[in-house]
Amino acid sequence: MEVFMHQDVKKILVSAEAIEQRCRELGKQISDDYRKDGEVPVLVALLNGSVPFLAKLITYIDLDIEYDFMDVKSYEGTESIGDVRILKDLDRSIKGASILLVEDIVDTGRTLHEVSKLLLNKGAGKVKIVSLLDKPSRRVIAIQPDYTGFVIPNEFVIGFGLDFNEKYRNLPYVGVLKDECYL
Ligand code: 5GP
Repeated sequence: MEVFMHQDVKKILVSAEAIEQRCRELGKQISDDYRKDGEVPVLVALLNGSVPFLAKLITYIDLDIEYDFMDVKSYEGTESIGDVRILKDLDRSIKGASILLVEDIVDTGRTLHEVSKLLLNKGAGKVKIVSLLDKPSRRVIAIQPDYTGFVIPNEFVIGFGLDFNEKYRNLPYVGVLKDECYL
């Protein structure tokens, strides 16, 4: 069966070329900032959405970085500022480490708020955040990424790591699905 994932896309919000260019800029800015501070970050990427962003970003970071993965799940069906459940924890000690959290999108801000807290509790010396996308209009918790790829309007987006029912993560751009795909 052939599946043409591109035909499900209503519009492209961020093109593959724009992502490439922005990752280059972010990589340079991150390299310059950490070099200035005399630090080398450990990148902690949140599964599964941030994988394409991490993969591209690190090729533009000119430092001896290491990276690791975490998978967390927010407690569902609650409007409270709940904890997150850890589905996959880090494979290393991060005591004293300078962490750069890598996320696909900041929406309400709950996930990054909770994960940042968790990493500081594990002994991280510092936690900074880089997010490919930011939807500030949806924010519930006042949290601001240190580095942002693109600020986008309040639309549900897919592609470049972002899914709808685990699909469309492999689109090379960020887009919006056609309405009929949600039926
Ligand atoms: P937050 O904790 O900031 O509300 O949520 C962040 C997570 O919600 C993201 O890592 C992502 O998994 C999911 N999310 C938020 N907005 C979108 C969106 O527009 N599209 C997709 N595919 N996931 C989103």
